[in-house]
Amino acid sequence: MTEYDYIVVGAGSAGCVIANRLSQDFSNKVLLLEAGGSDRRFFVQMPIGYGVTYHQKAVNWMYMTEPSPDADNKPSYWPRGKVMGGSSSINAMVYVRGNPKDFDEWSDMGNPGWSYQDVLPYFKRMESWQNGADSYRGGKGPLKVSEVTNQLHPLCKNFLSAAQEIGINLNRDMNGEKQEGVGNYQITTHRGQRMSASRAYLWPIKGRTNLTVIKNALASRVLIKDKKAYGVEYLKSGKTQQVFAKCEVILSAGSINSPQLLQLSGVGPKSILEQASVPLIHESPAVGENLQDHLGVSYFYKSKVPTLNDQLRPVLGKIYQGLRYIFTRSGPLSLSVNQSGGFIRTRNDLEKPNIQLYFSPVSYSLESPDKRAMMSPDPFSAMLLGISNCSPRSRGSVRLRSSDPLKSPIIKPNYLSHKDDVTDLLEGVKVIRRLAQTNSFSDVIGEEFRPGPDCQSDEQMIQHIKETVWTVFHPSSTCRMGPDPTKNVVDSRLKVYGIESLRVADASIFPKLVCGNINAATIMVGEKASDLILQDKVNV
Ligand SMILES: Cc1cc2nc3c(=O)[nH]c(=O)nc-3n(C[C@H](O)[C@H](O)[C@H](O)COP(=O)(O)OP(=O)(O)OC[C@H]3O[C@@H](n4cnc5c(N)ncnc54)[C@H](O)[C@@H]3O)c2cc1C
Repeated sequence: MTEYDYIVVGAGSAGCVIANRLSQDFSNKVLLLEAGGSDRRFFVQMPIGYGVTYHQKAVNWMYMTEPSPDADNKPSYWPRGKVMGGSSSINAMVYVRGNPKDFDEWSDMGNPGWSYQDVLPYFKRMESWQNGADSYRGGKGPLKVSEVTNQLHPLCKNFLSAAQEIGINLNRDMNGEKQEGVGNYQITTHRGQRMSASRAYLWPIKGRTNLTVIKNALASRVLIKDKKAYGVEYLKSGKTQQVFAKCEVILSAGSINSPQLLQLSGVGPKSILEQASVPLIHESPAVGENLQDHLGVSYFYKSKVPTLNDQLRPVLGKIYQGLRYIFTRSGPLSLSVNQSGGFIRTRNDLEKPNIQLYFSPVSYSLESPDKRAMMSPDPFSAMLLGISNCSPRSRGSVRLRSSDPLKSPIIKPNYLSHKDDVTDLLEGVKVIRRLAQTNSFSDVIGEEFRPGPDCQSDEQMIQHIKETVWTVFHPSSTCRMGPDPTKNVVDSRLKVYGIESLRVADASIFPKLVCGNINAATIMVGEKASDLILQDKVNV
């Protein structure tokens, strides 16, 4: 019998953290199951390689959602990492913790222990910020966070000064005391290589004998008896196998697969389980519901000065930058394309930012919005100004398509189904236009070629938003944490309501999305979950 103390399902942003922290105590025997394979791949480790892994089946679940009726009835392509490190191995590396108020709101929603003051120590514990520790930042954590200002494209300076021209303050550390303002994005890289959760938390403990990692193992069901989880069934090389947990099973399979796995295990909305012919073990109506995601809109401008398009489009440019990266781990291939940005409030009555800004000195507008042709940008000098919303109100769902664990679930994002999301995005794109018209940009910016000068009225701008809006890859809240078991899936200690010895810890437990990119907050969830699990072992 293969028995462990803890079984963690999913080696993503949260799962890698939990596997590391639980196995720090050598008396704990820990198993980490991951559906994907090794992350020791060139395009995973090279930062801008996410332009390649974005469509690479070997490392990516490559989900396609149902159409969103209010967003031009389009389906949306959702890449998710299926590899050690999960989505942190294929993401754009922008490092943003979220707004302090986000976590106070989590706490106010009935989740004691999750206020900003409660989670700040975890944010500090997890990171090694390049500029060193202070009262807000950590200097000794496993996750290296880089300041790359001196490597950014010169146009970033124009963006920062344009923002100040229209009254937005410069903020040198959006992960410090306050989030609001503009600055250059910090990224999860170290010496020019991607710093995924796997690289940060698993690579350094490769030799730990009390941690077993099984790759290419798809968990198909949590084994539950008398409403207590006691193991996991998984598929590997065409065979079904079972492993057993003395203490707990922890699901860290992400916002799509954690609810799918709960539903496959008989924990979920009764009607969904009945439709999929899965025997009901515990009715939990919120499993897979409350799906939220940030949405982005981009405006494209010709440039009067060379941009990354000129470096990355020509064959000789590609060869030069490739060699530069291989020999010096520097240049644009060592960075994210999202170089600067920030957080703003488009209305004075708001208590925290409602719009995130992105500036990228590159454009790939001629490709379909579903593609990310980072190594093949437009054949002319151009740049992109983008926005995304911070607190979307539209809600979607993740529901079983069938009882077959190999079939993807039905994902309904319902983008733009709440009118406030349209309002926020409309106000956001108006800020883009104001930025583009500043003196700071006037010498370098050319014509707006998408959506272009014909798009002027609110109706036209809204139509453009509906036609081009895209996921910012932050699905969350499908196993939401909260006090009412009929509306939420886990309690504030991340325990699944109604089932003993089972927790969920990943982006799916967010009570609501945070303001900005969510990898950092998900790693924080992994850190805090580890403490909760270990405390409960001590208290048994
Ligand atoms: C293209 C892209 C760009 C992004 N850019 C950014 C960014 O710039 N900054 C930022 O902060 N965030 C970004 N994100 C979002 C961020 O990376 C994710 O939200 C975060 O990594 C989610 O962490 P998680 O632990 O919830 O899930 P994941 O990291 O997705 O981990 C889930 C893991 O579980 C595994 N798994 C799933 N099902 C099973 C199963 N049945 N059995 C075994 N294993 C299973 C998966 O293979 C995966 O490894 C981006 C995401 C994507 C996809």
